[in-house]
Amino acid sequence: MSKVIIEKYAVIGNPIEHSKSPIIHGMFAQQTDDAMSYDTILGPLDEFVETVKKFQQEGGKGLNVTVPFKEQAWELADELSKYAQRAGAVNTLVFKDDGSIFGANTDGIGLIRDFKVNHKVSLTDKRILLMGAGGAGKGVVQPLMEESPACLVIANRTPERATALAAEFNDLGDITGGSFNDLRDQGRFDIIINATAASLQGIMPPLPESCLYEESVCYDMMYGGRPTSFEYWSEDNGASLVLNGLGMLVEQAAESYAIWRGRMPETKPVLDSLLVTW
Ligand code: NAP
Repeated sequence: MSKVIIEKYAVIGNPIEHSKSPIIHGMFAQQTDDAMSYDTILGPLDEFVETVKKFQQEGGKGLNVTVPFKEQAWELADELSKYAQRAGAVNTLVFKDDGSIFGANTDGIGLIRDFKVNHKVSLTDKRILLMGAGGAGKGVVQPLMEESPACLVIANRTPERATALAAEFNDLGDITGGSFNDLRDQGRFDIIINATAASLQGIMPPLPESCLYEESVCYDMMYGGRPTSFEYWSEDNGASLVLNGLGMLVEQAAESYAIWRGRMPETKPVLDSLLVTW
């Protein structure tokens, strides 16, 4: 009888203990009895590259990368996917047989799929506000623009980062960036996406009420057992739909899994199961 080889994958971040990725990839693997393992790695803040190389040398096949290492993963990769290249951030590493490293960014694909497939929300011709210009924000700009929105406005606590991010992608359409204060003159938005880390701190970004109206769809990339301050704010101010990032998490994981294993897993049963057990 031939021995089954278990191929090794993991997610690296700091902190990492909260990660749901091992549960999600475990469920994907179960769907077809895929012989893979998926662990968490707490990456020391000053030893990201060393930790990744060690995992690779021990036979690791791929890694997911989360806060705060996505930019370092981008620098480490020898070859980049279309989205990763422009985003400047990588959340999926593939260790190829020739020893080289491929980097992809699946965050944007995950977000778009969650909007369109899971929630039947179209982004085409919509006025979209993206709050945050960190790793997550950078990763979703190009996929958002490919949906042909009416415009994309990026607001960030450090306005220069939003302005720079908008300038980086303004060949793709109507994109502007600035401060939260600037939003007072920008009218209302059909879609408001929170890609700031404010929710992790239990803080509501300083978003003017004038941005929201009764048709607005509000999306917090953060996911957790309880609604975030932004989700409460959106409900209190009459948004038509308020969503969190659990679907994005599952969809971006599915895309990573497909890159590694060559097969797209089913996401709905995984999402349903997480919603019950959360
Ligand atoms: P990051 O690279 O550290 O960027 C943090 C961003 O949040 C920056 O734009 C920062 O602004 C802003 N920010 C931090 N504290 C703030 C506050 N108190 N008020 C307003 N803005 C604040 O983090 P990230 O990787 O982009 O992650 C951001 C969020 O997205 C996290 O909650 C993460 O869990 C979530 N996320 C979810 C998924 C998913 O699959 N659902 C995927 C990726 C990320 P400055 O530039 O001024 O510092």
